[in-house]
Amino acid sequence: MRRRNFLGAGTAVLGALSASSGAVTASDADASPLLPPQPTSPLSAFARPLPIAPIRATTDRLIDVSVCTRPFRAQGPRIESERRYGKTIVHHYGHGGSGWSLSWGSAHVALPLVLATKERQIAVIGCGAIGLTTARVAQRHGLQVRIYCKDRPPEVRSSTATGMWTPDSRICTSQHATPAFSERWEWMARKSFKMYQSLLGLAGDPVEWRDGYVLSDTPFDQPLEMDDDEPDYPDLMERLADMRPRSIALRPGEHPFRIEHVRRFTQMTFNIASYQRLLMEDFLREGGQIVQREFSNPRQFGELKEHTIVNCTGYGARALLGDESIIPVKGQTAKLVPQPEVNYALSYRGHNLIVVPRRDGVLVAAQGEKDFGNSDTTVDRALSDAAVRRLASLFA
Ligand SMILES: Cc1cc2nc3c(=O)[nH]c(=O)nc-3n(C[C@H](O)[C@H](O)[C@H](O)COP(=O)(O)OP(=O)(O)OC[C@H]3O[C@@H](n4cnc5c(N)ncnc54)[C@H](O)[C@@H]3O)c2cc1C
Repeated sequence: MRRRNFLGAGTAVLGALSASSGAVTASDADASPLLPPQPTSPLSAFARPLPIAPIRATTDRLIDVSVCTRPFRAQGPRIESERRYGKTIVHHYGHGGSGWSLSWGSAHVALPLVLATKERQIAVIGCGAIGLTTARVAQRHGLQVRIYCKDRPPEVRSSTATGMWTPDSRICTSQHATPAFSERWEWMARKSFKMYQSLLGLAGDPVEWRDGYVLSDTPFDQPLEMDDDEPDYPDLMERLADMRPRSIALRPGEHPFRIEHVRRFTQMTFNIASYQRLLMEDFLREGGQIVQREFSNPRQFGELKEHTIVNCTGYGARALLGDESIIPVKGQTAKLVPQPEVNYALSYRGHNLIVVPRRDGVLVAAQGEKDFGNSDTTVDRALSDAAVRRLASLFA
């Protein structure tokens, strides 16, 4: 499908890119090198070029490459309950590329369905972003929770996410973004956002605000032509305009890059390794239990001692329930050896390059040519090597 993607001041810069930067539109040779800060006419203190530490982008410094599938549903996450096998099953899955960002708010949408059963001891199936936050929210409402899961962090799919605040990334198609959907999405996003601000400044920096640069060869109001299999996604971030730092356009001399169009943005990031460890520790400290168990059939839910079960199996729900509304959207991330001095994110629009300064490594994300509907989780090392070389060319 041929799509047009705009990137205006109001969009979540990396979020928009992560759902739309598929095509590599220029070779490594096209990428321009960095410039040292230029002397300029009087600039405001905010606009002056900030010193940036170069990223040591060589492929031998890649310490990890992971591939995973986002659990995308055209109609958005499934949050509803049903009676089956003598139990109340609350389904809570299908958060696309927004699972970490929306998790707390989404858990609060699922909560009333759980509380309505009046059960004080519940089961949560799944220990990813959605299972862990659902369990924590239930605990905070006085429930005892046992998590059953095939995998726990760091083996869960959630562990391989990029780690950005991207609450509208592949969350539904434009067609399904009805006013009712958008209102509920906004409520979830605001609830999550509020929770995340309470996790700032903690040991291990589970959540941080970071600056970043988005670079573009063409003006930002000129749409990128995307030739991929992805549907049209809505830009819901406009609804959160009041609670996000604005990105600002920088003129030559106000930034260190030899690229014509540059914007500086500020975005919330998640250090997923320490964040999911924090979630696990909090869950266990409040009496939660984790049981390793794989379900091959939902009928096995009937064997659990709990009568209320929250199904947070993410992409796993496709096989477990035969739910083909879940479409895999493949994503590959790679980590370079951590560089604590690299404190900025970077994205080169239309060049298939997104970089996030995580504590556990400088994360380099790149899209493949056919990621939508692709469930193949084989690592394509050449894809990450190419992204690292594109990054290196910026620092040549
Ligand atoms: C490359 C990539 C980048 C991403 N970047 C971001 C980002 O920057 N920001 C953001 O907000 N989101 C991002 N996402 C999306 C986010 O990671 C997902 O939406 C989120 O991980 C979904 O969480 P989950 O808990 O539903 O699923 P999972 O993490 O897959 O957890 C599912 C759990 O259920 C268990 N399970 C599954 N099936 C069974 C079974 N049959 N029996 C027992 N247990 C089972 C699993 O073992 C696991 O514990 C990204 C995703 C990808 C792939």
